Amino acid sequence: MSESVLKLHPGREKSLRRRHAWIFSGAVAELSGNPVPGETVTVVDSSGRFLARAAWSPDSQLVARVWSFDENEAVDDAFFARKIRRAIEFRRFLGYDDPEGGCRLIFSEADELPGLVVDRYGEFLVMQVLSAGVEFHRDRIVRLLAETTGAGGIFERSDVGIRAREGLAGRTGLLYGEQPPNPVIIRENGARYAVDIRHGQKSGFYFDQRLSREVVAQFAAGRSVLNAFSYTGAFAVTALLAGAEHVINVDSSAPALRQAAHNLEMNHIAPDRFENLTADVFETLRKFSAEGRRFDMVILDPPKFIESKRVLMQGSRAYQDIARLGFRLLNPGGLLVNFSCSGLMTPELFQKITADAAVEAGVHGVICRRLEQSPDHPVSLAVPEGFYLKGLVTRID
Ligand code: SAH
Repeated sequence: MSESVLKLHPGREKSLRRRHAWIFSGAVAELSGNPVPGETVTVVDSSGRFLARAAWSPDSQLVARVWSFDENEAVDDAFFARKIRRAIEFRRFLGYDDPEGGCRLIFSEADELPGLVVDRYGEFLVMQVLSAGVEFHRDRIVRLLAETTGAGGIFERSDVGIRAREGLAGRTGLLYGEQPPNPVIIRENGARYAVDIRHGQKSGFYFDQRLSREVVAQFAAGRSVLNAFSYTGAFAVTALLAGAEHVINVDSSAPALRQAAHNLEMNHIAPDRFENLTADVFETLRKFSAEGRRFDMVILDPPKFIESKRVLMQGSRAYQDIARLGFRLLNPGGLLVNFSCSGLMTPELFQKITADAAVEAGVHGVICRRLEQSPDHPVSLAVPEGFYLKGLVTRID
């Protein structure tokens, strides 16, 4: 059976020549054939020259995502096995292959598998299927992941909102092997974390903050810390193990804070060294400020405030508000550690917002570290949109 052919408008092949993986609906001149969603199509330029093989995704703005730019490369078992092996080899190169640890094993476009996200928790894998192409090949991907990694179990957490944009319904459950225990325990830099991979946010744990945790550990000794948007308290565990005096975790999610308490206990942190507050961060920052409370480190790791260009201003304002409130809560010599995981927020804009917040708070600060997503969430040179997480460590006078 021959592949359907997707012909692009003149000039619209340029991004593909630079190896970018996305084809927008507006670039398509003509589709010959009748591919089902996720089926592989051949992409050609306006004069019919081969450009790529891609997965057809009619319900998405990105109507096709490239699997391969090589005319001789078929999208078959051998193809997926090669990509999976390469992704694993890269994490080994990073030193993120502790069998009892965890990491992001496959990160979509960065690993040239658009729409496939796989996190490893010890011997268990959590898979997210985020594109029609991955959905189409899901069975063979699961089989090859199992064969290549020797995983004890593979669990699916395809319950995220972006699936809807691909016309895919949510789906969770066991795909292969044994049911993972609840919680799964992983270790990282001498700490242990309990993760609920069935119900936790994302796949259960924020591997993207691994390098940031190392930096927090470096500066934590002797400090009192406010860990806002704490989720399950990974920054708190890190800071306390590194000698922080006391940490207050604040999160609106009670289950996340219950898990945080469990994590702190499991790492033998004395109960008088932490407090877990189920509350709204905006309100808590204001309340603490009104009460004259002060800290030596304030960590702000909020959810994505900017989901689309339409809310860029509004979202930026929210980042600035919490940074201002955070600065106001610092003792002299204190550190603000603030993050944005919105891809639409550039590092330049984030720095400017932080600078404006410092002016509003009446403090002078210098940047002592710039942070970004850990390298198991690499950014492909060809698809820079994969860069999303940025942070600053600012020390005030
Ligand atoms: N710092 C965490 C990850 C934070 S994810 C880590 O390193 O693991 C963002 C968290 O913010 C989620 O746990 C979510 O429950 C919480 N959250 C979102 N909006 C909030 C709000 N207005 N007040 C308090 N917590 C909030």
